[in-house]
Amino acid sequence: MNSGARGDASRPAPMLRYLIIDILLPLLLFALLRSFFRGIFQTRRDVTRSTQPAPPPSAPHVVAGGELKKDPVCGTYVSTGASVTRTVDGQLLHFCSKECRDKYRAA
Ligand SMILES: [Zn+2]
Repeated sequence: MNSGARGDASRPAPMLRYLIIDILLPLLLFALLRSFFRGIFQTRRDVTRSTQPAPPPSAPHVVAGGELKKDPVCGTYVSTGASVTRTVDGQLLHFCSKECRDKYRAA
């Protein structure tokens, strides 16, 4: 029998192993870390993007309780709940202030 063959050819070269462990593994780790951090940044950008377009509280100065009526003297719109009213010729008029009401009476 030929007992001299010990399978030297089938044994992987140690250099190749070092190459795989020292280069391919760090590369793999680096790629993993990069995708990981990229995911963090993307979610963070999504968070800021979702908070940015929060609709500004565009609350027009609508006084609660009432429709808006035009002050016939100065032209401002006052809500019927907070206006100074005066009945002229059977018509209810809304004024923003007593001054306007008095002006209307004087006119
Ligand atoms: Zn007025």
